[in-house]
Amino acid sequence: MAFDRIFNFSAGPSMLPEEVLLKARDEMLNYQGSGMSVMEMSHRSKVYDKIIVDTQAILREVMNIPDNYKVLFYQGGATLQFAAIPMNLMTKNHKADYILTGNFSRAAAKEAKKYGEVNIAASTEADNFDHIPQQDELKLDPEADYVHICFNNTIYGSKWNYIPDTGKVPLVADLSSCILSEPFDVTKFDMIYAGAQKNMAPAGLTIVIIKEDLLDGNVLPCTPVLMNYKTMAEKDSMYNTPPCYSIYVCKLVLEWLRDTIGGTEKMMEINKKKAEMLYNYLDSSKMFHATVKKGSRSMMNVTFRTGNDELDAKFVKETAAAGMSNLKGHRLVGGMRASIYNAMPIEGVEKLVKFMADFEKANS
Ligand SMILES: *Cc1c(COP(=O)(O)O)cnc(C)c1O
Repeated sequence: MAFDRIFNFSAGPSMLPEEVLLKARDEMLNYQGSGMSVMEMSHRSKVYDKIIVDTQAILREVMNIPDNYKVLFYQGGATLQFAAIPMNLMTKNHKADYILTGNFSRAAAKEAKKYGEVNIAASTEADNFDHIPQQDELKLDPEADYVHICFNNTIYGSKWNYIPDTGKVPLVADLSSCILSEPFDVTKFDMIYAGAQKNMAPAGLTIVIIKEDLLDGNVLPCTPVLMNYKTMAEKDSMYNTPPCYSIYVCKLVLEWLRDTIGGTEKMMEINKKKAEMLYNYLDSSKMFHATVKKGSRSMMNVTFRTGNDELDAKFVKETAAAGMSNLKGHRLVGGMRASIYNAMPIEGVEKLVKFMADFEKANS
């Protein structure tokens, strides 16, 4: 790769497309004749207004977001949304269903408990989150104000392979680590949110996509003004200063996805190819094995281990020396994790698989 860049398998913040970084570099000192960097300009200026308006328009185009959904640009990460969701939505019967499939859904449920009653409609925690529950295992409460799921489990490496049917109860999904990785039918969700630093932009930006019906102005009295979705929608995400530069890079990433890749359908084909290459090797290896069951495996975060902690550590050390960084698994689960988001080139996965095969030969 150019500029001595390495293949960075970090779970987040993670790789950005080289084309995007180069464009940001070229526009760094003088954005399109404005005489200043996007970092330096007023968020109320005409030139910045075009950036934020275009970003939303391209996101709507790329994700095929219907007109009856609002798009909000937030700060505070996905974690702030763990609180904002109950503040805005746990307002009718003051209870919600949470499905636990990993660390972030557990954290979301823990936060929501501060604001109302949380029912755990299903959990795979007893199986170390190695799969996603099936529809008939979900104990959904028809009186719940909403159902919350985490669609792709960044730490454990699993992903829902279906969108659960929640009947009339609104479905809220954390798509932080899989947004833009494949086409999503937005109409199947009532709210989608995603921290941008996995697949969209640098850290600092969180996207909320919410159906207008849910913005009835009825929020818990403790809700800070910034966390009121209705207020934020009425102010076009400009109640206060938005994360200006992250939004700008998000626009560049969306343009890359639309114009260079050809959209989310094409992106999915590439992502499938990368993930299959890795899982096929893992399933044929005598040394490495995937930690998530077939049918629940993530296309973005591939978790695996050898079963021997010393060998895992040796592998991580040797891959880093060979120009492949951040393959160490999350501290909660150990082992290894290869995060292969949209921006990871196919060559990075090819190099990793070849390295694994050589490592297996040399160490068995
Ligand atoms: C990274 C991540 C989070 C936490 O995001 P922050 O932006 O650090 O708050 C939440 N959910 C998922 C699925 C993630 O991947």
